[in-house]
Amino acid sequence: PPDVEQLGRATWTFLHTTAAYYPDRPTSWQRANMLNLLHSLPVLYPCSHCASHLGETLRINPPDVSGRVALSRWLCERHNEVNERLGKDKFNCAKTDERWKDGPSD
Ligand code: FAD
Repeated sequence: PPDVEQLGRATWTFLHTTAAYYPDRPTSWQRANMLNLLHSLPVLYPCSHCASHLGETLRINPPDVSGRVALSRWLCERHNEVNERLGKDKFNCAKTDERWKDGPSD
């Protein structure tokens, strides 16, 4: 089976980076594809207990794909739910761009 921690780090990197560079004003095609990407994870993600948690989370908190700021915030909150479940520190969602897009300002 895959290494769940390494898979998780790689997947979060992909998802947060993709959200950070998602358009401010996505086309309906881009929005539809982002929804497909997110909704495919509970079906395909190769960690079955992670996938079922994610399916539940998507049901309770439908993704906001209206633009990069909203999507990045939505994803940060979902990642924080996983952090909390695993007993990890919560991430400050105001720092999402600094972490995944712009880098530190100084
Ligand atoms: P990670 O949690 O992988 O985070 C990587 C980096 O992202 C951090 O170093 C930090 O810089 C940044 N970061 C942290 N939190 C946030 C945030 N909220 N917003 C933005 N950036 C942030 N593991 C399990 O054991 N059980 C599960 O049920 C489970 N479910 C998962 C569901 C999904 C959808 C994914 C992608 C992963 C899941 N994992 C699960 C894996 C788990 O989330 C971690 O990836 C893994 O434990 C490695 O953790 P880490 O401490 O190295 O950092």
